[in-house]
Amino acid sequence: MKLVFLGPPGAGKGTIATRAKEFYSIPHISTGDLFRHNIKNETELGKQVKAILAAGDLVPDSITIAMVEDRFKDDDAKGGFILDGFPRTIAQAEALEQMADLDAVVNFVLDKERIVKRLSGRRMCKSTGRIYHIEYDPPKTDGIDDETGEPLIQRDDDKEDAIMNRLDVYDAQTAPLIEYYRGKGLLVDIDASKSPKEVFESVKKALAKK
Ligand code: AMP
Repeated sequence: MKLVFLGPPGAGKGTIATRAKEFYSIPHISTGDLFRHNIKNETELGKQVKAILAAGDLVPDSITIAMVEDRFKDDDAKGGFILDGFPRTIAQAEALEQMADLDAVVNFVLDKERIVKRLSGRRMCKSTGRIYHIEYDPPKTDGIDDETGEPLIQRDDDKEDAIMNRLDVYDAQTAPLIEYYRGKGLLVDIDASKSPKEVFESVKKALAKK
């Protein structure tokens, strides 16, 4: 299954992808995670994109597309994948078309008020990328990852100024992809306001029809 998870930041794409990758036995490829991994390891790419991520801006298409092309060379991506956070621009979508034939694009629909609430309460384990929410999905011990025991962090881009910028960037650059993929008959709209369990059930049902 070759899937794209589309939707504003904070809509739950990463959370649902974690469940879906096990269910469908396909890798979860998150461009945000790939960039953060490079930043953490202080690679050349990481140094190039660090300030862009912190501000909530988009990394240039050429860099992002090259990174995805590279990731697609790994064996695990040959049989299918969940792309989370890619494409984010029409140019990226056009590049993706040259790389793979998609089965579906899942569009996670969530209103702005809920997005801001989810993003500002989001916490993450830096080494595994596992995501929590202080209210909706808290760890067993406050501020500590359930599996690794490491302290949870708040991403720089989950702070208020960056959130507002990310939403503007989403509206201007990424939201046009909804109509782009609807036009190609690939889009599946999912109400992302429910619990992760309910959202995942709707995704499974919708994809079974594809
Ligand atoms: P995410 O974890 O998907 O919210 O991505 C975090 C940040 O990584 C974004 O705010 C962008 O700065 C960068 N990023 C991730 N995916 C892309 C993409 N497809 N194109 C450009 N920048 C991206």
